[in-house]
Amino acid sequence: MIEAEAAKCLDCGACTASCDILPAIDPARPGSLARQVLAGELGMREEWFIPRCALCRRCETACPAQVRIADMVTAMRSLLIAEGRIDVERYRAMWVDYDWNAISLFRDTYALGVPSERVASSPLAFMPGCSLFNEGYELLPALMRLLDGVCGAKVALLPDCCGMPLAEMGLRTRYERFADGLWERIADAGYEEVLVACPNCLAQLESRGEALGVRVTSVYERLACAGVKAPARPGVTVSVHDSCPARGTQLGAWVREILSGYDLREMECCGDKSRCCGSGGAVSLFDFTMREVRAQRRAEEFARTGADWCVCACMSSCSTLDVPPASGRVRHVLELVLDQEIDRAECRRKMDLMWQGDQGARNEHRLAHSRPLAKER
Ligand code: SF4
Ligand code: SF4
Repeated sequence: MIEAEAAKCLDCGACTASCDILPAIDPARPGSLARQVLAGELGMREEWFIPRCALCRRCETACPAQVRIADMVTAMRSLLIAEGRIDVERYRAMWVDYDWNAISLFRDTYALGVPSERVASSPLAFMPGCSLFNEGYELLPALMRLLDGVCGAKVALLPDCCGMPLAEMGLRTRYERFADGLWERIADAGYEEVLVACPNCLAQLESRGEALGVRVTSVYERLACAGVKAPARPGVTVSVHDSCPARGTQLGAWVREILSGYDLREMECCGDKSRCCGSGGAVSLFDFTMREVRAQRRAEEFARTGADWCVCACMSSCSTLDVPPASGRVRHVLELVLDQEIDRAECRRKMDLMWQGDQGARNEHRLAHSRPLAKER
């Protein structure tokens, strides 16, 4: 795939200005980069670039040749992993196809499970995504009741990961095996429709669901079409952070529809031109400073709008963007819909605590000795 995409590249440079790190490579052209990788002639700056690309696809919106730049980068990651030039152990905390990882350890440490009444058989399931399940666990009871009402049926809760972290790391074969396991579980449960909250899950699952005859629907679409609005608070203004995987989709429009009772102040880069919040591309596992730099830039862009709250449809974005000058001013759209706020400081405290003391030592040990899941859960 690298060859085919590189062959499409016109070396025109139209994508370069859309990116924060592409200008650092030489020449700053994705096609040239790919050719260097294939020829085994990768320079230090180019090798630095590949694990730090946010896979945000912002560059692709400027490309006249429709080069799939982000897919090309993940394919290059696979090559560098195979050659031992990217140490895949650095990503271990997000190996979702292993028994212990940051997500499963958090759930085990704080006993977060699926309530028995939500395991019940139903043709309809709600998949919150890893971050919303873990960090927004307290929202789930009210959210499930809301979905029951909107859908006119009892909705089951599907706590699974979509496998996106594996795809982003460039672990393609492991991702495909993991995704096969997920779709088998969906088929076995008899779900005809899966409502998803995470924009990454939507992007990962939509087309395969269509091929398998399972509807994959954004929960924001479902809520907006049912006329559900976030109750407005007089005098409160909001700005929407559009998630990278929502580029080219209607997701941002549904979120804005739900927020239509609020005075909206758009960021300079919004919609298809939105910027990465810092959590994209599995970069934080490789270079945490890069995550902070991107989060800071986006938080500052939000602050320039003068809005009170920065609203996201992605829980990872909420936690990542909760940095000065946006600290304490980030909300998930579902918090506004349910009129229930997540205690992010408490959530951060729990994330720190799980790595401290005896509990921390136990979790470190479990992570270091994690094993592949027999059949991807
Ligand atoms: S996907 Fe994002 S980070 Fe990667 S090259 Fe494109 S704009 Fe840059
Ligand atoms: S805009 Fe597209 S064609 Fe032009 S250099 Fe970038 S990837 Fe190549």
